[in-house]
Amino acid sequence: MSNNLFIIDSHCHLDSLDYETRHKDVDEVIENAKNRGVQHLISICTTIGRFEAMKQLTAHRSDVSLSCGVHPLNVEDEPFDYEKLLAYVQDPRVVAVGETGLDYHYTPETKALQQSLFEQQIEIAKQVKKPLVIHTRSAREDTMHFLEKGNAQDCGGVLHCFTEDWNMAKRALDIGFYISISGIITFRNAEELRDVARKVPLDRLLVETDSPYLAPIPYRGKPNQPAYVREVCEYLATLKGISVEQMAEITTQNVQRLFNLKL
Ligand SMILES: [Zn+2]
Ligand SMILES: [Zn+2]
Repeated sequence: MSNNLFIIDSHCHLDSLDYETRHKDVDEVIENAKNRGVQHLISICTTIGRFEAMKQLTAHRSDVSLSCGVHPLNVEDEPFDYEKLLAYVQDPRVVAVGETGLDYHYTPETKALQQSLFEQQIEIAKQVKKPLVIHTRSAREDTMHFLEKGNAQDCGGVLHCFTEDWNMAKRALDIGFYISISGIITFRNAEELRDVARKVPLDRLLVETDSPYLAPIPYRGKPNQPAYVREVCEYLATLKGISVEQMAEITTQNVQRLFNLKL
């Protein structure tokens, strides 16, 4: 039954899972996922320096696609190398640029640097014609400002792990972006997010885990893993009044369209 499902975890960090005590290796993580109908994963790189290791970690897996970018919370980790990122994102396994964006919640002091790297990554995405994976927190206005000003509609993208309001979702939808829903949708206090998700058209929704963070109920508080995107998909299906099979099919088509992913 579950194996008939074809769900894609559109955002996870396979290089950040706990392979010391929790998982044997990446293959075991993916096996767990497949047992729950999760057939493909997009593993997101958060610094340029980590890309080679991520690539190696997943080199034998045709069911893992990659992205590469500099996360707004990592802008000070290393000097930004535009040419290197430009080269990395042209790798055929890389389907997106990011995650990039703005996070004023945790590190408002790096605002200027975050903005500069965000602008440059929008340029790279347009140059290689691959979509953007956007992280935004406490920076609604500026995130949309840079996306609109940078003509990000030319490459498209997704606001991942969406936790913002309907106004922001609407502005993102207006420039052709997708909205990705994580396990937060299952949290008791996420009523505003559920209202937003009810309004987002089905053909613009993605599902993700953001593993190892933000496990959905009933795993809340535990380390997350791609298998649990099943819970997100089920929850969202109920919210939208369709079957989990339909939700899996629709969100998989959306991922394939956005990331130009041939499976
Ligand atoms: Zn993020
Ligand atoms: Zn992430």
